[in-house]
Amino acid sequence: MHLPTLIVITLILNALLGLLMVVIYDLSKRKPCFLYWALSCLVFSLGVALASARVTIELPILTYGLANLMLLAAPILAILGIRDFIGADLPLRVTKTRLLTAFLLTVAALVASYPNKALFSAVTALLMAGCFAVGALWIRQLSLRNPAPRLLLLTLYAAHAVVMLVLAGLSLGSGNQGWVYEMVLASHILLTTGTAMLFPLLVYVATEQRLKRLANQDELTQLYNRRAFFNLSDGLFDESVRVGSTFSVLMVDLDYFKQVNDQWGHAVGDQCLQLAARTLQAELRERDILARLGGEEFAVTLPGIDAREAEDIAQRLCRCLAHKPLMIDGQAIQITVSVGGVQRQKHHTNVQDMLLQADHALYSAKSKGRNKVIFHHPAQTPAPEQGAPA
Ligand code: GH3
Ligand code: MG
Ligand code: MG
Repeated sequence: MHLPTLIVITLILNALLGLLMVVIYDLSKRKPCFLYWALSCLVFSLGVALASARVTIELPILTYGLANLMLLAAPILAILGIRDFIGADLPLRVTKTRLLTAFLLTVAALVASYPNKALFSAVTALLMAGCFAVGALWIRQLSLRNPAPRLLLLTLYAAHAVVMLVLAGLSLGSGNQGWVYEMVLASHILLTTGTAMLFPLLVYVATEQRLKRLANQDELTQLYNRRAFFNLSDGLFDESVRVGSTFSVLMVDLDYFKQVNDQWGHAVGDQCLQLAARTLQAELRERDILARLGGEEFAVTLPGIDAREAEDIAQRLCRCLAHKPLMIDGQAIQITVSVGGVQRQKHHTNVQDMLLQADHALYSAKSKGRNKVIFHHPAQTPAPEQGAPA
């Protein structure tokens, strides 16, 4: 490997990556993480350029002092970007006191070691190893459904911490210019460039995951929304047709919910909806699909469940909700639900079809006094229409 060529390529690549991050920062409504990463790339480029000038310029204050400071600033900025990107509670949280202590210790270590070039380089490398270790710890906290970018970044950061420790050891040794030193230096350069390239990918994966969640989740209850319900349930419906298994659907509607809102206010009404969602979710299996279709209406898909079992489940849901009032200022707000249900039959072509029938059954449950389950068994003919549901 020809180190000078690698250095020139790295310099150009990091400068370009830095500029790219500045553009993404501007496009992403000024997400600070991109600014940190942009500065990290640009500062790393300058640091490499200054450090490379050691062989031609005899100006240690620039080629050692400033160069090392810039090379150290690069991982610091990179992990500050990671911290801003993750945002959640992190181990080793950056409080003002910790930041000030770390800054003062760093300055003290750098000033104390500066007169000895080898020691100064070793201290810089050690501090960088610390940065990469902290970065790896933070990246571990990142939760992504697609684990590949997180795992890759974590591996690169951990490897980089090790490489910097080796570099610190080598800087203290006498044979600075050996091939091992060059290999370690090359690894450092490649790892820095590689991780910088991963940052936009990481943000892309996380943003896509967040958008998907927003598109499929009901904000108030965190349940699936109508769109996700039909997407997922239609898939299960088709599968049950293919394998010939049983399949049932429930429509669940809170009783006299308008009165709750009128009496207690909308905010308490929202809490009732959240409690109902939690209670329903706790009573269902993981493979059942529970969604808030809108307002105070929920729907449940029960794959592999026939009408009789589904009716039992619906009765249990009714009982559980009725026995779990919302407590506000020591007062119990009693919520009940009415449920209409149906088992898949030959004439159903999709879940929407089934829901229409379940909705009619729900209307019957309402008109028969509420806090009830009405179910169409497969043997029964559909109930005669009694008017449109409310
Ligand atoms: P029924 O027993 O016949 O279902 O009567 P109901 O009062 O529950 O039904 P109605 O359709 O008359 O009223 C539904 C109420 O649900 C009216 C609306 O204000 C309330 N609602 C819908 N969405 C929300 C919400 O997101 N939060 C709160 N707090 N209330 C909501
Ligand atoms: Mg209602
Ligand atoms: Mg309703």
